[in-house]
Amino acid sequence: MRLQQDEYAKRIKKRRLRIVMIILVMLVPTFFTGFIVGKSYANNEKIIKQDVTDKVEPSISQGKEQTNLMEDSLEHANSDVNNNTQQNSTEKVEASISQDKEQTKKQASTEEKPLEKVVYLTFDDGPSNLTDQFLDVLHQQDVKATFFMQGSNLIKEQLQESVKRATTEGHYIGAHSMTHEFKTLYKENQFVPEMNETLALIHEITGSKSHLVRPPYGSAPGLKSEQIRNQIVDADIKVWDWTIDSNDWTLKDNPAQIIENVKSGTNSDREVVLMHEKPQTLAALPGIIAFYREQGYKFVVYDEANHFDLNFQKDPRL
Ligand SMILES: [Zn+2]
Repeated sequence: MRLQQDEYAKRIKKRRLRIVMIILVMLVPTFFTGFIVGKSYANNEKIIKQDVTDKVEPSISQGKEQTNLMEDSLEHANSDVNNNTQQNSTEKVEASISQDKEQTKKQASTEEKPLEKVVYLTFDDGPSNLTDQFLDVLHQQDVKATFFMQGSNLIKEQLQESVKRATTEGHYIGAHSMTHEFKTLYKENQFVPEMNETLALIHEITGSKSHLVRPPYGSAPGLKSEQIRNQIVDADIKVWDWTIDSNDWTLKDNPAQIIENVKSGTNSDREVVLMHEKPQTLAALPGIIAFYREQGYKFVVYDEANHFDLNFQKDPRL
């Protein structure tokens, strides 16, 4: 009798143990799924916060980083799971992780926008008596642009309101030298002093400190010497050329050809269009904007926080 009772008690114990094991096996995947989802949401939140601070042009590398972060957290969770759970429950957990991973990838691909096409519209040689009209068109079209202004025009008081307005309306103003003279800038080595003077003027007028300049006539051949490029680096100045030359300044009364030049020059997912504050350019602007809209480009303004090098000298320091 006693033996039988003992046997019976043992069986009940075993059965209880089994029930506890089954419950554990069922709970473990649920727990880990919750943990992983929570973790990837936390990562999302971090990245979204970052995005708000450098709102413009969500860069591809940031998106990649995001995916890496998420995959990282999944991978860590994965190895934790392998260490801590047993046989059949591991399978279930892994299945749910791969499902999660897939969802995370989908989420990331909609957020990182690696295939987003962007265009920077840039206008040189201002401010001018056309600046306000350029700003009107840009405002109507809800487009932000990048201006490279010239010191000899910035000092004209009657133009300074337009310069302030451009900054207020979200456009970027970089420097385009004081004199615009090839000989002075490049032969007499006045590039850095002139750019510093122009940048100081922009700061004085707008209250914004800029570091980006566009070399008159482009960096080739002006900035060929490494010595002058070292000076630029030391002065904490960045240099931008362009990817598309609209040739607008040569096309007086021919806005259609300007639009055509921009269209035929467009062949990459990131374009920087060189234009000037000219009447024919003003006339072409709505057509240029319409073209990029049709092609699915997003209009972006230069952002110092997301600088990328774009100079014909291919100097990554600039
Ligand atoms: Zn110019």
